[in-house]
Amino acid sequence: MRVPLLDLAAQHAPLRQELLVAMARVLERSAFILGEEVAELEAQVAAYCQAAYGIGVSSGTDALLVALMALDIGPGDEVITTPFTFFATAGSISRLGARPVFVDIEPQTYTLDAAHLEAAITPRTRAIIPVHLYGQCADMAPILAVAARHGLAVIEDAAQAIGAAYSDGRRAGSMGTLGCLSFFPSKNLGGLGDGGMVVTQDAALAERVRLLRVHGSQPKYYHQTIGGNFRLDTLQAATLLVKLHHLDRWTAARRACAQTYEKLFAASGLVEQVGLRLPTARYRACGVVYDHVYHQFVIAVPQREALRAFLHQRGIETAVYYPLPLHLQPCYRDLGYGPGAFPVAERASQEVLALPMGPTLSAEQQAYVVDTIREFYRR
Ligand SMILES: *Cc1c(COP(=O)(O)O)cnc(C)c1O
Repeated sequence: MRVPLLDLAAQHAPLRQELLVAMARVLERSAFILGEEVAELEAQVAAYCQAAYGIGVSSGTDALLVALMALDIGPGDEVITTPFTFFATAGSISRLGARPVFVDIEPQTYTLDAAHLEAAITPRTRAIIPVHLYGQCADMAPILAVAARHGLAVIEDAAQAIGAAYSDGRRAGSMGTLGCLSFFPSKNLGGLGDGGMVVTQDAALAERVRLLRVHGSQPKYYHQTIGGNFRLDTLQAATLLVKLHHLDRWTAARRACAQTYEKLFAASGLVEQVGLRLPTARYRACGVVYDHVYHQFVIAVPQREALRAFLHQRGIETAVYYPLPLHLQPCYRDLGYGPGAFPVAERASQEVLALPMGPTLSAEQQAYVVDTIREFYRR
């Protein structure tokens, strides 16, 4: 049996006609840049995320970059974030000449540990970027409280968590000053190429992001500020509008897969026998329906690399998000962090393993994955 990490072709197959019709309409109208599908998608995604405004942008990375630009963050500023995230979170801070300041993560959820925040704040701190990793919200209440106390902005990196809800029911991206989404193809709502969105409740910031998206141009060829080309293509917006209608169904299917994995692992004895750790959905106990959206189903295991190779040989694809925490990346040597600076993130980077996940994953495939993992530890 072959089990891909994510089967996008299978997910798109039933949507083929709908997608082709949407793309043909864009071709007929030929409004390829900021056509009406972009505004339509912005309205629908903002509403989906419980935000007042949405601004479509060229990628999740550019969403982070333009959000930081909208807050005028630059040289001399510090922005606090997690070392256990995709590079773009910190890279965007650095590209503006500001300094990423890392704080360690929680061992259960791998999201920013709010208990370490206060100690990392200096007079130069301007913002905090919590990351809703693997589809689960960071612990926003204490993060927002610290931010309010120190007058800091909060940019939510919700690239992996569209539709995820915090314990009070608020959705990823809607709680901070600005929220950033990615429509990279493998994300829960992915386009047929790159794309992203900034969401916010703040009208003035929304206007500022809109301006920055088109080189600060208002009216055209009169530049009020220095921005960039951060636009979302009409073609991507059109395909994303089609896919957005299926997102709740896909999220429900992801949750069902997560439950199936949990049952299979419980029956396997692997938790007790080898210390395998399952993902912790922190907020499920609160009775919130839309909690974890399982962008990834990530276990933590001993002998991870050997297990990965074993699974690969048996047709099972896995991935490691992320193998080297950001504070230990070669490009960040000059930040002065060394091994041991963030022990929870460092341990996670050696143990985490993302298993196949997605709306088209079958129960048979899942059983095969768990059986094969059990076979590995029995040898
Ligand atoms: C995917 C991702 C991004 C970047 O999004 P792109 O659309 O690939 O530029 C940023 N942060 C996190 C946590 C991500 O997973």
